[in-house]
Amino acid sequence: MITEPADRWDDAEADGLDPLAACVYASRLIGRDPGLVLHGGGNTSVKTREIDLDGTPIDVLHVKGSGGDLATIEPAGFAPLRLDLLRMLLTLDRLDDDAMMNALRCASLDASAPDPSVETLLHALLPHPVVLHSHADALLALGNQPDGAERIRAALGPDVLIAPYAKPGFDLAKLCAKLVTPGAYPRGLVLMHHGLFTFGPDARTAYRAHIALVTLAAAQLTTVTPEAVTPPVVAPAALARLRREISAAAGRPMLLSRHDDDRIRAFVTRPDLADVAGRGPATPDHVLRTRPLPLIGTDVAGWSEAYRGYVDAHRDRAAGLTPLDPAPRVLLAPELGMLTAGVRAADTIATADIYRHTMDVIDAAERLGGYRALSAPDLFDVEYWSLEQAKQRRRGTPPELAGEVALVTGAASGIGRACALALHARGAAVIGVDVSPAVAQVLPGPGYRGVVADVTDPDALAGALTVGAETFGGLDIMVAAAGIFPRSRPIAQLDRADWRRAMAVNTDAVADLFALAHPLLALAPRGGRVVLIASKNVPAPGPQAAPYSASKAAAVQLARVAAMEWAADGIRVNIVHPDAVFDTGLWTPELLAARAERYGMTVEQYKRRNLLGTEVTSARVGALTATLCTDAFAATTGTQVSVDGGNDRVI
Ligand code: ZN
Repeated sequence: MITEPADRWDDAEADGLDPLAACVYASRLIGRDPGLVLHGGGNTSVKTREIDLDGTPIDVLHVKGSGGDLATIEPAGFAPLRLDLLRMLLTLDRLDDDAMMNALRCASLDASAPDPSVETLLHALLPHPVVLHSHADALLALGNQPDGAERIRAALGPDVLIAPYAKPGFDLAKLCAKLVTPGAYPRGLVLMHHGLFTFGPDARTAYRAHIALVTLAAAQLTTVTPEAVTPPVVAPAALARLRREISAAAGRPMLLSRHDDDRIRAFVTRPDLADVAGRGPATPDHVLRTRPLPLIGTDVAGWSEAYRGYVDAHRDRAAGLTPLDPAPRVLLAPELGMLTAGVRAADTIATADIYRHTMDVIDAAERLGGYRALSAPDLFDVEYWSLEQAKQRRRGTPPELAGEVALVTGAASGIGRACALALHARGAAVIGVDVSPAVAQVLPGPGYRGVVADVTDPDALAGALTVGAETFGGLDIMVAAAGIFPRSRPIAQLDRADWRRAMAVNTDAVADLFALAHPLLALAPRGGRVVLIASKNVPAPGPQAAPYSASKAAAVQLARVAAMEWAADGIRVNIVHPDAVFDTGLWTPELLAARAERYGMTVEQYKRRNLLGTEVTSARVGALTATLCTDAFAATTGTQVSVDGGNDRVI
């Protein structure tokens, strides 16, 4: 819902700030209001006078760096540029994008500063000391209408300049140069289909003008609270199938995240969904996250075909363009809610946030005169704009397992935790499963989800797989690391409860997990991968550990059969045999000391009691496990790898 923005300026907090610090303060206030900007949108600037190395005064424009986030920006997030050089650029008749960006970088007074915003020249053009720019939902809803400009003028008053849409950069700055009359002091500048600029002699004035104008726009809108409804249940395999199709279209594994709530339900069940959502994004700034149009329904191939046609139709507009993958990023369907696709978990969340606001803008605009977005050629120009493509390229090549989903049992501690960390470090989104609530805190960020579940409860395992499908779209990699080591005792004194418990956790739970996970693993875009964490005790059992050795051996046979049965589905199943990993919950310092003493060794000697004389840490086991899931082992299944420092009984 679009609401009136809150004025969050606090004179006490802003007291005594220098002009740049006050601009940082105002920038953060704007950045923290999702009704104003989302995920890197918007930009701000402040003009100051500084002293150059030779003592001469120079005018400096501090403008937000490209791609930075206003919500968390620091002074170092601004590029300090020589204003005289920027204003010289504005006297030119033509300047292409790459030449402009080069000139902007060369105007910097700090070689380590970020690349300046593509909207820098507009900031330089405006004579006002502070300039704040947002993509406020309320203005987009009011302006994205057949008579949007008139509505904005009527709502915001005559002292607000209104510019038609132009691609940000040199052309937009030149267009605005014609509108801004020297000496006049407008309250703000609205760029149609794009956003709002406000100005002021100081950050407070510019911020208050921003809030005031957005409030006037919001007052024109009517919104209704959606009714509370229960979202439908979606089978995990249905999500995994869609993810596989989207990944095939993208040419690489993609995450797929499901979002469903009252707001989304109200939108996806609109009878005119295909019509209104088919008109385009709320602002072209969103197009790189959302693509020009969402997929309505589930025909991924049909969307890809249409997208290729759209690219072909506009190819002449962007010579030398790098074609983007023909895969949708937003999928809307009454039976699913909203699904968002992306290589990184953070991308699926950013895209979902952006499209939620698109829903609000479309809904509010439809309640007025009717939603209208920018035309397809203009959208194409933004999507295939060299500066935007460069911004994407700067994010770098994603890591090897990016776009893939891993589930690790026993993830709260020891080897399971190390496996979760290693897979996450290689780019996989990870579902950690453990009976301990500590599983929730194994990793920060959107690429990890901890699920508290007892692996001996098949319903709880199914629940964890459902969380994986809803959050990330399916399952590519599964690591069965949960296990227990019962008390040591000879078979003659076998404790039946210990035996049953070892079998339940080390064998039965693995069998249940394999059975439940197979349908999802079979739909993994690059083929599923499974690693069973077994034990040196399988190839080289020790006395007094019958329940452990027997239960792990049974699990190994299960994994070997799975390797045979699942090879045709492209699923690789491999087994890791760690030994003497002492940095796990199984080993206390007292137990370690007692064991070392029994062998007549120091603890350090005991830890390295193997052929290589090396310490086997859980991190080493995690790294090996993650590597088994990479392409280095693409032709390997059913194999058993020791990670024990070398053991003459195993070799
Ligand atoms: Zn903008």
